[in-house]
Amino acid sequence: MLTPVNIITLGDYIDYGMALVAWCRACPGPHREVDLALLAERLGHDHRMVEGELKLRCSRCGSRDVAVLVSPPVAKGAGGAHRW
Ligand SMILES: [Zn+2]
Repeated sequence: MLTPVNIITLGDYIDYGMALVAWCRACPGPHREVDLALLAERLGHDHRMVEGELKLRCSRCGSRDVAVLVSPPVAKGAGGAHRW
């Protein structure tokens, strides 16, 4: 039987190996993985990750129009290639 997994807090994201990818809509640049450990250090492991609530700022242009995408765990040893 499969049990639904509730991934709610920053700590959950880290525990389940989830990744956050962010990119700036204002300036073209590479997608960057958000450092969850650093984020947890700043906001706390119990910080609830409510969609659309996480506000990031682009370090290049200072824009707050940053899109965030939750990425499932990447299998280690699979070559690391993105298939999209
Ligand atoms: Zn930017």
